[in-house]
Amino acid sequence: MKNILDFSLDELKSWMKDNNEKEFRAKQIEDFIYKSLWNFDEMHVLPMITRNKLNENFYIGIPKIVHSYESKLDGTKKFLLALEDGNLIECVLMKYNYGNSICVSTQVGCRMGCKFCASTVEGMIRNLTPGEILSQILVVQDYIKDRISNVVLMGSGEPLDNYENVLKFLELVSSEYGLNIGLRHITLSTCGIIPKMKDLADRRLQLTLAVSLHAASEDKRKEIMPIANKYSIADIIEACKYYIDVTGKRITFEYALIKSFNDSMEDARMLANLLKGLLCHVNLIPINQVRENDFEKSQENTVKKFVEILKRNGIEATVRREMGADINAACGQLRRSYMNAQI
Ligand code: SF4
Repeated sequence: MKNILDFSLDELKSWMKDNNEKEFRAKQIEDFIYKSLWNFDEMHVLPMITRNKLNENFYIGIPKIVHSYESKLDGTKKFLLALEDGNLIECVLMKYNYGNSICVSTQVGCRMGCKFCASTVEGMIRNLTPGEILSQILVVQDYIKDRISNVVLMGSGEPLDNYENVLKFLELVSSEYGLNIGLRHITLSTCGIIPKMKDLADRRLQLTLAVSLHAASEDKRKEIMPIANKYSIADIIEACKYYIDVTGKRITFEYALIKSFNDSMEDARMLANLLKGLLCHVNLIPINQVRENDFEKSQENTVKKFVEILKRNGIEATVRREMGADINAACGQLRRSYMNAQI
């Protein structure tokens, strides 16, 4: 059995043709699915024989909402979802004045090992398929009865470690027959897998690339991000320059501020030197404390001074509003606290 959400319209058309069905039925099926009809038997315009064939060959891989949590502070909603094989993933919905934005997972777990992240504690279980990434948007859209206009690939998993599936997801999510969310409204976050960043640049997609830097010195980065042993900061910056040159797009650098680790004025100056002259924006994230480690959040005053130093050096920087602080909204926290409660 195949997940029909993994199929593009063209692929479904050719499946229909190969199975002696009319090609135009593929569009009807996609229309139903994108309008939240997730049962082939209820697609009454399709002949019975077609519905039977679909049931014999496909399932519609919409995950089950195991739990949903809503922040009392800002309305952020977090969803714990069960996939067809029972694996659990998370996604987070944030309401902004420009619309609904969803942060989706691209893998079950993650093998990148970042020390401040709960998603990686058990390693990577498996990649999500393109349809499974897409299904997070479908199920949440149906739940809130409202359109999602922005997508961030920043949940559990490293998107560029599941590259082919993520590329196909981008094709599906932006296609006119589907959710039609333009790539300009999509942000892909990576911890810095350089060869894939360069490949992505060459594809000249209109998405926003966000690079998780989190430290301006090699030693500190190695301490919190094992990927730093493979790719140096200098090489990441060079790959970013290439990305900017080829696409003309501004890069976002993510920098999680950790108290007394990477939030000193010296750290801010090093970061400023590193990024000077780059078409970029820095997103400072006062870290969400995770039960699995001892990192503490930087003090407000320190954050302010950090921003000032960057701005004085001509680098645009904003502090990300902490969303859903009361519902374990940081990546991987919910899944882990749910799993711990089951043990
Ligand atoms: S921060 Fe992202 S890349 Fe790092 S372990 Fe967590 S999910 Fe993986």
